[in-house]
Amino acid sequence: MNLFALLDQAASRHADRGAVFVGTRQLHTWAQVRDRALALAATLRAAHEPGTRIAVASENRPEIVELMFATWAAECVIVPINYKLHALEMKQILDDSGAATVFASPKIAAGLTDVAVEVLDSAEYTARLAAEPSAPPRDTDPDALAWLFYTSGTTGRSKGAMLSHRNLMAMTVSHLADFDDPDADCSLVHGAPMSHGSGLYIAPYVLRGARQVIPESAAFEPDEFLDLCEQHPGCSSFLAPTMVQRLVATGRPRPANLRTVVYGGGPMYVDSLKKAMAAFGPIFVQLYGQGEAPMTITGLRRADHLNADDATLGSVGYARSGVDVAVVDADGAPAAVDEIGEIVCRGDVVMSGYWRNPDATAATLRKGWLRTGDMGSFDARGYLTLRDRSKDVVISGGSNIYPREVEEVLITHPEVTEACVVGAHDEEWGEVVVAFIVGTADAAELDAHLLERIARFKRPKRYHHVDELPKNSYGKVLKRALREQLAR
Ligand code: AMP
Repeated sequence: MNLFALLDQAASRHADRGAVFVGTRQLHTWAQVRDRALALAATLRAAHEPGTRIAVASENRPEIVELMFATWAAECVIVPINYKLHALEMKQILDDSGAATVFASPKIAAGLTDVAVEVLDSAEYTARLAAEPSAPPRDTDPDALAWLFYTSGTTGRSKGAMLSHRNLMAMTVSHLADFDDPDADCSLVHGAPMSHGSGLYIAPYVLRGARQVIPESAAFEPDEFLDLCEQHPGCSSFLAPTMVQRLVATGRPRPANLRTVVYGGGPMYVDSLKKAMAAFGPIFVQLYGQGEAPMTITGLRRADHLNADDATLGSVGYARSGVDVAVVDADGAPAAVDEIGEIVCRGDVVMSGYWRNPDATAATLRKGWLRTGDMGSFDARGYLTLRDRSKDVVISGGSNIYPREVEEVLITHPEVTEACVVGAHDEEWGEVVVAFIVGTADAAELDAHLLERIARFKRPKRYHHVDELPKNSYGKVLKRALREQLAR
């Protein structure tokens, strides 16, 4: 099993149809993408053994698609690097993965001064495309590594989750079974970084021969994104919750061809989700996943959003096809309905471990189960609700307080645009709840708002008004940075 087969199929069935677009401009047909990938593969094979890591550090660019399939055709391992990382963070990933060849966009290459890189639109790169194409791979072991997925590192140094062809095929099948049903008259518009979520979704859409649309800006600009969803047919996209909010903030209606927005990777507050559905209609799908089980642990399908109560909208849905999901207590025994414990999962989608990191692997994979580090509970219907990562839970005077719950309420205040709740050390209580607020509502107004809606003991003892919340390059709020700020 080799993921190159997905491109091979698309090229056989849809040879002359447009495959890769930049903005509205068609760059290549499916037959051309296959030819380019096999030529690139020949040059990689000539230089590297199977299993060699090939890195690509670039903002969203069309070459990422062909390089991914070229790397797989050469039975090598792609290591996509988020373009928003600092050069030192990129260097850490390159060193850790031991990447033998590093492709980089001109912009990234300029910042990666002490690394030998090949620039994506250089003469060297173009010369590769003239090589005699390699034969498609025939006998790849399904468990061979396909992708080293570097985690976003919100809890420390970035680790490389080892994803095999089997893992990504399981993700692909599950996406097509649960979430979306594209065909050759559809498009995947890349809003989020192709090094992560948006790039993982290349596989299912290539299998169906759906267009790969890369915005001209190579990034996420809400108006440009919405324009592209007018101009391309049957558009789907994976977006982080903050990107969905930015689309809503444009005040524009749903573009005629925008069919599906998959959101996830971080909390989508119920209030924000309702606003998004009011603006764009029932096009939303939620995923809960992590690099270690790419895009696939639980989900809420489009239909699950219709006439749904707040408990459903605030949940992360139910187990994805082909995935076992459980909540376990501290001893690893299954938790009761509504009881909070650690979320674990298993299935073909789960990584085989962390690259060259047996200690982290042993701590995370237990008897085939992936320990997600996320806390949650199942309701009687099998809907899972996330209760923050275990380390984010605030224990104040012996009571567990789940920041997400307080944030959900704060965000419903009309004068709050963003809220983040963390614990701060306190002599008397052990920890107290502290809220960081973007918005103009003052402490008394916020207290009054909370007291009408949640238990008094969950109320923040302090509010800090800030212009913005610190976020990493994936748009995830850096709670650690806020806690450190409080400790200082
Ligand atoms: P990453 O591996 O960088 O994609 O981060 C995965 C983590 O993001 C998960 O372990 C969760 O803590 C969080 N996450 C992913 N999806 C969701 C979601 N739908 N709602 C809330 N948090 C999420």
